Amino acid sequence: MNTGMQNLVGLDRQELERLAQSLGKAPYRGRQLYHAIYRRRATAIAGLTDLDRDFKGALSAQYDVDYPRVHDVFASTDGSARYLLRLQDSTLIEAVYMPEESRATLCLSSQAGCAVDCRFCFTALLGLQRNLSAGEILGQVMVITSAREILPRTRLNLVFMGMGEPLLNLAQVMKAVHILADPQAFGIPLRRITISTSGIVPRMNEMARDPGRPKLAVSLNASTEEQRTELMPINRKYPLHDLLRACRAYPLRHRELLTFEYVLLDGFNDADADALRVGKMLGGMRAKVNLIPYNSGTELPYRASPMERVLAFQQVLAECRIPAYVRISRGQDIGAACGQLRLKGMRNGDTTP
Ligand code: SAH
Ligand code: SF4
Repeated sequence: MNTGMQNLVGLDRQELERLAQSLGKAPYRGRQLYHAIYRRRATAIAGLTDLDRDFKGALSAQYDVDYPRVHDVFASTDGSARYLLRLQDSTLIEAVYMPEESRATLCLSSQAGCAVDCRFCFTALLGLQRNLSAGEILGQVMVITSAREILPRTRLNLVFMGMGEPLLNLAQVMKAVHILADPQAFGIPLRRITISTSGIVPRMNEMARDPGRPKLAVSLNASTEEQRTELMPINRKYPLHDLLRACRAYPLRHRELLTFEYVLLDGFNDADADALRVGKMLGGMRAKVNLIPYNSGTELPYRASPMERVLAFQQVLAECRIPAYVRISRGQDIGAACGQLRLKGMRNGDTTP
């Protein structure tokens, strides 16, 4: 439902200070609002007890505190859950909650759908509907953390590995990241936030210059230019050669590693020769590789590599002194695993892709 009200969720500290001033109040009133929304997670202007009455009145005439609505939740037998969220304009997006013993990981969407069109990815089948605003990105964190009663002391990791290509919506994603990392707001350390990209080279260079950047993961997925172009048509625009140059130039913090993701596709990119080429191309970089067994489905032609192949691939990388980890996606039974997000199981007469 579009109420015509402007959402306060998504405004940063400076914007809220300016908003307070525009309503004739001191900037610190804006800072109070910032704290109330992102630290105390206020859900309505009326609940902001420390704000003066006058200011609240003026605010409620034009603004509200709006979170995405939970449209549906799918619970996996492994404890993870896929949230189908409805935004104010009725756009549907997905986010995934993955608890572990003393921590939890949230997999967030940066766009509704995706335009990048990787041949193995189910999100690609949706095409791009639109970019998400910073408020809609923060809204995913707010809705799931409150639904799950995640305590402030739980170690929370955030990964932008849901729907969309975060670097094609970089300004809104970084605005959200700055608020998520701010100790006055969510206070999630930058080392626990990861943006995953299909390799939008100019945006990677831009991200490199931002002192508030989170960690970066690059979806490599192939060992040659030809192979990568076949899987990821974006490789024509930003070839592997340029991508690797940007990766080598990417500034890393103390003990930080660049992550490369590699989805293993049976008989396509999973041979020892592929692993050897990957080992050579990453040699000398401060990097690790996450090997992701493919999550398949009937609409796409690829199949998962057998586990012996995955382990053999990992072994070749180990011999090249590249640390590689096998990442089994969670929530496969509920369509929540890597690359599976595509609004499956929609209700209310919506068509299921
Ligand atoms: N658009 C960004 C982030 C979202 S995709 C990116 O491409 O990096 C997150 C990860 O899921 C990527 O590494 C992608 O290669 C992987 N992926 C996509 N489809 C998959 C599938 N069907 N099975 C396993 N991993 C998949
Ligand atoms: Fe988009 Fe990432 Fe899927 Fe490629 S793998 S289509 S970039 S979401």
